[in-house]
Amino acid sequence: MKAETEAKLQAEILESEPGRAILTCIQCGTCSGSCPLAEAMDHGPRAVFAMIRDGQVEAALASNTAWYCVSCYQCMVQCPQQIPITDIMYLLKQMSLDRGLAPGDNKMPDLYAAFERQVRLFGKVSEALLMADYGLKHPLDVMASTPAAVKLLARGRLHLLPRKIAAAQRLRALLEAAGQKERAS
Ligand code: SF4
Ligand code: SF4
Repeated sequence: MKAETEAKLQAEILESEPGRAILTCIQCGTCSGSCPLAEAMDHGPRAVFAMIRDGQVEAALASNTAWYCVSCYQCMVQCPQQIPITDIMYLLKQMSLDRGLAPGDNKMPDLYAAFERQVRLFGKVSEALLMADYGLKHPLDVMASTPAAVKLLARGRLHLLPRKIAAAQRLRALLEAAGQKERAS
């Protein structure tokens, strides 16, 4: 049963655009070597692609790799096979979320969701409100970062009240249109 699930997940990735490009990976490791977040990741991009090709797909989706990707595109610029690594990270993130495999007590998806709510409301992120929103589900994380927040506050680097951009409503309409387009595709 497990093997069947793995095979289905593997096919879903390798038959998708951009996932099919994983088949052309030559495992050179340039992506992992150039990734600024590789040390914090459970596996670098190279290793994740090897796992997917090897059929260890659930483990790849349950790792923090895609969630720690900050979309800097460094790996894509360097990849000799021109594999759209960053785009594949988006795909893995979505699949991890859809299958309930996101690691770390769902912290990263919850942070992403809180971030999106801020952008929809104000057009930008207020760090204080972001942490308050995220802290509803993960209060211990917020408590742990309180000393740093107090220091930032004292230096005027943290604002308690949100500051709205002038075109917040237009941005909200754009995000809504993009969401509708994605749901329709
Ligand atoms: S740089 Fe490209 S070819 Fe090399 S391991 Fe990474 S994805 Fe594969
Ligand atoms: S795009 Fe993501 S995976 Fe690629 S180098 Fe940047 S952080 Fe690493």
